[in-house]
Amino acid sequence: MRAEPQDFSRVLSSMCTEPHPAAREAAETFLATNPGDPGTYQTVAELEGDAVDALGEIAGLDEPHGYIASGGTEANIQAVRAARDLAATDAPNVVAPESAHFSFRKAAGILGVELRTAPVDSDYRARVDAMTELADEDTALVVGVAGSTEYGRVDPLAALSDVADDAGALFHVDAAWGGFVLPFTDEEWHFDHVGVDTLTIDPHKMGRAAIPAGGLLARSPDVLDALAVDTPYLESTEQATLTGTRSGAGVASTVAALEALWPAGYREQYVRAQNNAEWLADALDERGYDVVEPTLPLVAADVPRSLFARLREEGWRISRTGAGELRVVCMPHVTREMLESFVADIDALART
Ligand code: PLP
Repeated sequence: MRAEPQDFSRVLSSMCTEPHPAAREAAETFLATNPGDPGTYQTVAELEGDAVDALGEIAGLDEPHGYIASGGTEANIQAVRAARDLAATDAPNVVAPESAHFSFRKAAGILGVELRTAPVDSDYRARVDAMTELADEDTALVVGVAGSTEYGRVDPLAALSDVADDAGALFHVDAAWGGFVLPFTDEEWHFDHVGVDTLTIDPHKMGRAAIPAGGLLARSPDVLDALAVDTPYLESTEQATLTGTRSGAGVASTVAALEALWPAGYREQYVRAQNNAEWLADALDERGYDVVEPTLPLVAADVPRSLFARLREEGWRISRTGAGELRVVCMPHVTREMLESFVADIDALART
């Protein structure tokens, strides 16, 4: 194959990153294994148990039920699917803030569930009053986001958990991106803090595992039972995942990354990323651009479209929020030097 490997030196838009070296090695070692067939691939199946236990520790759950999914999309789809199948209604709906990831739209479409989205407040967090208004006796799932895709915001999760309770619905927290940074903040986001039923936490984002590694966790085994189907031709009897055959790379690299980084390495990574985000926010603010304060390591700022386009021409991999702001995700591969060079390019381009 004649292709250069991915160069991360100008990647500012991705929620994925370079895997930790131990995770990369583990991914390669277990590339040809299939945790979907635990009767045959026993080692990787055991590793999956270790991965779920470790994710449970991060997410405040002593006896976690779950699995390593292909990513946050699968985990969110499965949370909706389980809630739909556990709900006592023929016309289930899901109530989510409009800041929820687009995977919930996929989930609703695939699963025939109505998705009701509530407006967010001026700080881009779910409005509890609006969520309450949308929830009713047919609500199967209420969704809160812990680290939103566009602005890195954490919804008022305790209040949203009450909304779910009042409606007799399950409460799902999407911490796909935030799950590996929130443990080092004051946010109340996980099973031990609030009444969470299911949670998405992706090792292949801030967790520095190799793609594909998403995480679905559930408080009750009923959730996994609701997802399980019989597997007649395999030695194991049932399978709760959405995909059948799946790569053991994500599972093994999750365990390796967690062994290497939890908790001290992730803490250090978070502090560096947050400092970088604040540095960039200040730099953009000093240059007169409107900046959305980074509560987690993600910066959004209103820069002119022409500047955005020219930065992309310079090779910067940047993206935009739905409202059109520049969006920079300070992932572990994003160094201060990269950001300095990015700001220097902004200065140079703004002059011409
Ligand atoms: N949830 C959140 C909050 C996300 O930011 C993302 C992706 O960025 C997802 C879910 C979907 O994850 P994936 O792309 O791994 O399927």
